[in-house]
Amino acid sequence: LSYYLEQIEKNKHLNAFNEVFFDSAAKQAILVQEKVNLGTAGKLAGMVIGIKDNICYLDHQVTASSKMLEDFVAPYSSTVVKRLLREDAIIIGRLNCDEFAMGGSNETSYFGPVKNAVDPHRVSGGSSGGSAVAVQADLCLAALGTDTGGSVRQPAAFCGCIGFKPTYGRISRYGVIAYASSFDQVGTLTSSVSDASILMEVLAGADEEDSTVATLEVPNYSQFLTQGGKKKIAVLEETISNEALDPEIKQAILVAIEKLKSQGHTIEYVSFDLLDYLVPAYYVLTTAEASSNLSRYDGVHFGYRNQEAKNLTSLYKLSRAEGFGEEVKRRILLGTFVLSAGYYDAYYQKAQQVRRLIREKIEDLFQQYDMLISPVAPTPPFKMGENMQDPLVMYMADIYTVLASLAGIPAVALPLGNNKERLPLSIQLMTKHFNELELLALSASFL
Ligand code: GLN
Repeated sequence: LSYYLEQIEKNKHLNAFNEVFFDSAAKQAILVQEKVNLGTAGKLAGMVIGIKDNICYLDHQVTASSKMLEDFVAPYSSTVVKRLLREDAIIIGRLNCDEFAMGGSNETSYFGPVKNAVDPHRVSGGSSGGSAVAVQADLCLAALGTDTGGSVRQPAAFCGCIGFKPTYGRISRYGVIAYASSFDQVGTLTSSVSDASILMEVLAGADEEDSTVATLEVPNYSQFLTQGGKKKIAVLEETISNEALDPEIKQAILVAIEKLKSQGHTIEYVSFDLLDYLVPAYYVLTTAEASSNLSRYDGVHFGYRNQEAKNLTSLYKLSRAEGFGEEVKRRILLGTFVLSAGYYDAYYQKAQQVRRLIREKIEDLFQQYDMLISPVAPTPPFKMGENMQDPLVMYMADIYTVLASLAGIPAVALPLGNNKERLPLSIQLMTKHFNELELLALSASFL
């Protein structure tokens, strides 16, 4: 713990932490040490873990990096936090992120952007940018993030770590601040596949508090990492031939494909003709869900409250106008629009139909293949501010990650070394629902 605390102090300029839990982490460390001495310590004994600042931990502040929740203290712990503590992990602090997990660069946080440790003028990726940088710069052993449309995988790709998003419904969302509930999923950021696997063992599985969690049994992922076997893998053609893809990322992926072939896996290129529909469908559905989820921040029940309001309506209006940042407001407006009576059929319902087509297409592919390959992000980490002027440019950068989110399938971002400028490159592997075991095993054999 003291090593990581020193590292955090040395790397303050990266702005990865919103708060370090000095007291509770120190207390937990003592407790765990006692258990270790008695031989009763849990699976994660002594693992120092950071949590994204949208995950509730009893009696600790949780802000979703928003002014709206600046002074909010969690009245209960999320299931994931309870499970980490039950297995004797040490939770070192809460990590910066995009406001309400909305963003792809960690520049929308009320507490300022998170800087990439390889180049502080570049973004960390988002929305779990603090979680990725914390692992990248060795500020903790592993971190939890949330992934609605790539927020674990894309920052992992930008920071050269492993970002694992399980199947929708594999891990409880209880106590995790909602963005878009039919997409939101907790995921891990680690520097090894075995750390990701041990965390998955602890975090996954049925939860009485969240009825969307699957009741399927949770395998001991970490014990089966060497039992991969040969896989049939499809490369999604259009994602690689896409002009928007950075040539060095493409090259690194082609080299990775050769490596997979030499390991005995079968690789085929298949066409995925729905690529153009992914980003529009994702943004219509997630903003719709977000506008509904965020309606609870009304200045009355909890969250920021304007002090000058003269009546209830102006209290709502002023509190929300002052409490939310620009990107969050944009999404609430967009979401309210696509749900409004005259436009519901044209946008929301259409997007739901597209989502079903995407799922069907993906299910078809998994009749023939075990895994899918695509890039994670079209570019390496870009410069701070570069994509902030135009939200559409930022949204389009999610093109490769939102597929797994729309389909609800597990996906992982794996590092592929660096480009000439020393910026991290990466590849994405996806697999069918609840096939995390094979995905982790393939990742382990590949790295
Ligand atoms: N960049 C995507 C978005 O802004 C992903 C966010 C997420 O996964 N939380 O919606």
